[in-house]
This record gives sequence, structure tokens and C-alpha cells, in this order.
Amino acid sequence: MNPLEKPDPRGFDETQWRRALEQLQQPYYRAKQIREWLVAKRVCDPQQMTNLPKQLRNTLATQWWWAPAEIVTRREDPLDGTVKWLLRLADGETVETVLMRYKSGNTVCVSSQVGCHIGCRFCASSLHGLVRNCSAAEMIEQVLTADRELARQGERVDRVVVMGSGEPFENYTETMRFVDLLIDPDGMGIGQRHVTVSTSGMVPRIYDFAERHLQVRLAISLHAPNDAIRTQLVPLNRKWPIDKVLEAAQAYVEETHRRVSFEYAMIHGVNDAPEHAEELAERIKDLRCLVNLIPLNEVPERGMVGSTPQAIHAFQEKLQERGIVCTVRRSLGRTIDAACGQLRAGFVSLPTPVHTAL
Ligand code: SF4
Repeated sequence: MNPLEKPDPRGFDETQWRRALEQLQQPYYRAKQIREWLVAKRVCDPQQMTNLPKQLRNTLATQWWWAPAEIVTRREDPLDGTVKWLLRLADGETVETVLMRYKSGNTVCVSSQVGCHIGCRFCASSLHGLVRNCSAAEMIEQVLTADRELARQGERVDRVVVMGSGEPFENYTETMRFVDLLIDPDGMGIGQRHVTVSTSGMVPRIYDFAERHLQVRLAISLHAPNDAIRTQLVPLNRKWPIDKVLEAAQAYVEETHRRVSFEYAMIHGVNDAPEHAEELAERIKDLRCLVNLIPLNEVPERGMVGSTPQAIHAFQEKLQERGIVCTVRRSLGRTIDAACGQLRAGFVSLPTPVHTAL
């Protein structure tokens, strides 16, 4: 059987567990046992699940998909400990996953799609277009890859951000299943407030997400104070312009009573002038929000240059003077192709895979 056709227990929700175990004529409590092995004990070989009957172990080994994603490349930044993996999925496609080490804990950045076709002008993820959506199981496996490495250091994953390659809301169903599995106390058990989902501005999905009333953070990639600049940077703006995005953000705040985050990549000579900060502040002054300024990780193929630290600081000050909460994201992983999609873009244009074991 094609590995992609085999059920992958990492992505099972309760209904799927019940159905899968019924088919095997097994009691439901096996779900808890198997999940404990997979998540708490980080074991992904059913033959090692010693509290399961031998016959069941054999059946599970042949009928379900267990293999961890293959690590094609692993790069670690010697300056800040950021780790970036290129992982090979069951069908041979590859995705990037990043582990960022902060004083406050370990954050994993997950890709929701193989490639991307949104085409943001500064991003490497869409250089080779969209291949396919990731399943919830494949997103969980990205988190588990980081978790296995952290476990060897006596640590664990504290936060998850769905901000890697892909537009999570274009893969809405699987992304929401992934979020549910992450925050399930019987699953990964990550606190809702420690999970962030980003979008480049798919307005209808922002409303859908708001209606779920989760305490999960929403980050909207704004990147511009007006439609002229945003259309240049985020082509999706032609379909859903800034006013529509801000209306949806307001609905999210009202439904969830949570603050919305706006991501803003700082690009020299494009969106980083003081008047841009003024214009942005005017637009969002009545919204309960935070602006996160992102020093650009430059992608050579894109030809865009990051703002100077002085320009970023001045932009932040301008927003703060206008009462807008504004942070500057720490730049991590600069020595390891840190920009979203850069590692995979380099890999898919290589003639042969480069395998680097852990
Ligand atoms: S920034 Fe996100 S949505 Fe835009 S091209 Fe990159 S991965 Fe896709």
C-alpha cells in the first residue's frame, strides 16, 4: 500500500481513533496507550509498544504508517542555537521546520504546505510554487521531530507557530485539525495561548477562525500601510484589500477578546519610511492589536533589502508614539538560510539530495 494511503495515528482525532480501533476490533483505551508511546515516550515503532498484545503490534506495524519524517538536512546556527530541518515526507516531498530557542522556551515553526503559491515578493517559499497541502499528521510530525531532539537535552517544545512555508488558511481543514491535536490535553497538550496561526490575509477564513473561539493567537501578515504597497508585496491583497483584512481582524478581536498580531517585514525603501508608520498607525489605532516588526531575512532571488536597524527603531518609535503596541522580532538563524522556504528552495533546485544525518 502507498504510505500516504495508510492511516497515520499522529493525525487521528477522536472519531478516527474510534473508527480505526473498531476496525481492528480493539477497545478504545488502546488509543490512550498508543498516544502515550507516540507523544510522551516519543516511540514511533509499534513493536516497541510493549503494553500492546504482540498480534496487535504486528497488525499496526503493517497497516498503519509510523515512520518518522526523514531528515534530509539539519542546520544549526552556532550563534543562537536555531535549528532548521528539511524533512522528507512519505511521498518524497520536502518541508522545512525550524526550532527557535528563546529564554522563554522552545518554539517550533511548522510548514502547512509543501511550497506555496501566494507569491509574497520577499519570500522563498513560493519560488517553486505549491506542490500540495500538508496533512495534520505531517504537521504533528514536524513538531515531534523538534521534540525528539529537545528530549535528548532534557527539554520540550513550549510553543508552536504555523508560520513556515504555505498559507495555513488555504489548508484550513488540516490546519485546524493540527491545532486541535496540539492543544488536546490527551494529545500534544500545548496551551492554546502558546500556539499561533498566521495568514497572509484570507479574509473568509479569518471569520471562520474567529468563530471557533479559541485562545490560539492569530497573526496577520500585513507588511504595508496601504493597498498600493501591499499589493506589490502580497498579491493576495488584490482579492482582499487592507480594509477587508482589518474588518476581519476586528471581528476576530470581538469574537475571541484576544489581541490580533500584525506581522510587518521591514523592507528598505519599500515600506519602512516614517510616513508609512504614521499611515499604519492611523489605520489600526482603534484595533486591539500588536505590530511585530520583522527584520527581513534576505532572499537573493527576490532582490529585496532589509531595513537598517535605525529605520526599524524609528518605525517602532513612531508607532509607539501613536499608542500602538509594537515589538521587533529578534533575528534568528541568520547563518542557516533563515528565510522561510530558503532551505527547500535550495534543495529542490539541486540535482541530487544532500543527506546530513543528525
Ligand atoms: S510569506 Fe507565507 S503566504 Fe507568502 S509566499 Fe511565503 S509562505 Fe506563502
